[in-house]
Amino acid sequence: MDTITALIAGETITRGEAPIPIIDPATDTLVAELPEASGDTVDHAVAAARRSFEEGAWRTMPVEQRQAVLRRCADLIDAAVEPLADIECTNTGLPLAQIKGRSIPRAADNFRFFADYIGQATGRLYEQHPDYLTMVRREPIGVAALISPWNSPIALGSMKIASAIAFGNSCVIKPSEQAPLGISRLVEVIGAAGLPPGVVNLVNGRGHSTGDRLVRHPDVDCVAFTGGTPTGRVIMRTAGELLKPAVVELGGKSANIIFDDADFEAALDGALLGIFTNNGQQCLAGSRILVQRGIADRFVEAFVERARRIRVGDPRDPATVIGPMVSQRHRDHVLSFVPGGAAEGETLTGGRRAGEVGAYVEPTLVRVSDPDARVFQEEIFGPFAALMVFDTDEDAYCLANHSRFGLVSYVWSQSLQRIMTAQERLQAGTVWCNTPMMRELRAPFGGWKESGIGADGGLECEAHYTRAKTVSVPRRPLPLRKLGA
Ligand code: NAD
Repeated sequence: MDTITALIAGETITRGEAPIPIIDPATDTLVAELPEASGDTVDHAVAAARRSFEEGAWRTMPVEQRQAVLRRCADLIDAAVEPLADIECTNTGLPLAQIKGRSIPRAADNFRFFADYIGQATGRLYEQHPDYLTMVRREPIGVAALISPWNSPIALGSMKIASAIAFGNSCVIKPSEQAPLGISRLVEVIGAAGLPPGVVNLVNGRGHSTGDRLVRHPDVDCVAFTGGTPTGRVIMRTAGELLKPAVVELGGKSANIIFDDADFEAALDGALLGIFTNNGQQCLAGSRILVQRGIADRFVEAFVERARRIRVGDPRDPATVIGPMVSQRHRDHVLSFVPGGAAEGETLTGGRRAGEVGAYVEPTLVRVSDPDARVFQEEIFGPFAALMVFDTDEDAYCLANHSRFGLVSYVWSQSLQRIMTAQERLQAGTVWCNTPMMRELRAPFGGWKESGIGADGGLECEAHYTRAKTVSVPRRPLPLRKLGA
């Protein structure tokens, strides 16, 4: 399989350093070796982005033309659904049907959303002062460093590119070294959309080398990162030191609260979708299931029965629901959370490898009674849910908020009063009520607490990728004090 070390102003670079092995996690076979972008290559990519920004072909392009280019990016992505999905499946083990049905259309939608958004964006005008008009304009910030994770590379990487360039910026994206192939191909695909050279550049490599060099580069004006909380801390520290604005979208351990008056079947469906979609490797996974005592036995029995029937296997088989974890190492990490003794919890189903070959894990449910249990606190990032039973509504809020994360909460109840109270009490950037994941691109999606700082979303991305300029103009010639006259 062809590998891309870097794509810089339309040029493909395949030479580099310290090759990264790319393994198909469904078969444990080596599919490619990807040479890492050296420091010089990172510098070259940033220089190309800087040059394109300063020359201004994209920054100053009339908005209708910029919208047309962004929409062409979307159309090209739609047209390339088969090859993009194929490569993403090989590299990540995500089920092909989910990639085709969700990730690739979502990538195209990201470009269409920001094309629409910039057509309606406005500045501000203050005219309260009798002598002056003061306008607040927003200008693109410059060169954006975009660092993306492996769990849904094309969907998440495309969001970063679309939101950065829509406002007139140039960018350099560094995908995860674990799953670089899909987003590299996507950058190639959108190269035919009419973007001026140097607006979108890509460098592949490891985080501590290629990624760090990119974030630190003096010609990078802002940083957007999605990934784990420990890396987010490192990136915030670097960006803070260099006074670069940074958005960090980090891990989660989201509570899924099921009250006893919930629509039982809907809550059950939602809980299964919440933890098992995307092979369970989702920041927004409903990985802590809180169920009220009156319905707990019935819920556990139904959940376990359904989880055991879920098809785990070849991600290319249309019947597959859960494919392999992204790597053997990650599979072992997920399985390391299986309780070793009663104090750590009781495994109700799963908790084992599935199959001899490939990084497969059985859908797993562990019941805990101690909210400080490791499985209830740590992000596992696999098809692995922890379940606790609660008595009162107050208990549910306390347990849900007993977490260092605050990305998402889910709540299921047919009482409007309960829903309204819950959405107020839960400490999370997003609360999904009586629904599994529902992504409204206009609204912010970002974490509270250790789940992040800043967010995606229309206004939020505009705020991050542009900077405000306040301009005051007298309404008429004004007499000025004549110093020294
Ligand atoms: P990770 O933190 O290991 O890596 C993310 C990216 O950061 C990779 O591209 C990596 O190469 C790069 N990186 C690592 N160290 C770096 C450094 N010092 N400087 C610059 N770049 C560096 O995360 P991951 O394992 O790829 O992704 C999984 C994590 O992402 C999970 O915690 C998940 O919850 C989180 N995530 C969050 C969201 C969200 O929207 N909040 C979405 C998806 C995933």
